[in-house]
Amino acid sequence: MRLTGSCLCGAVGFELEGWVSPIQACHAERCRKATGGLFSPEVAAAGDKFVWTGEVGNIASYEAPLLDTPPAYRRNFCRTCGSPLPVEHEGMIVLQAGVLDNCSELDVFRHAFVGQKSGCCEITDGKPQFEGQPPVPDVSELHE
Ligand SMILES: [Zn+2]
Repeated sequence: MRLTGSCLCGAVGFELEGWVSPIQACHAERCRKATGGLFSPEVAAAGDKFVWTGEVGNIASYEAPLLDTPPAYRRNFCRTCGSPLPVEHEGMIVLQAGVLDNCSELDVFRHAFVGQKSGCCEITDGKPQFEGQPPVPDVSELHE
């Protein structure tokens, strides 16, 4: 699958090609704070054909204090508009579905960290729920 995305002001964009996961709704408190959403709509993708477009100098990063074990929780965002931008994590790319130009082929397939779910978020879609971090998705769940 080929995906493109950009931040709100358009200064920073990206393109990628290869396998893409469906959307994981992450309810972790850190992910809610980082995105401003009731949950973070996370997409994992192949990292080998990922490229930034636009003004890469506009990408800022934040690393939160380590909670447990490395790697640290890191967020990329646009210096101008604050949109969350993709982060490289263990050779793959993790991004927020909301910054994609088109995510019509992706759907929410599970909920992560529901143990930290917001009190005003009710999960009604019947998709699998995990108290904490779910296992790595099965290959059959990935879009090529
Ligand atoms: Zn921007």
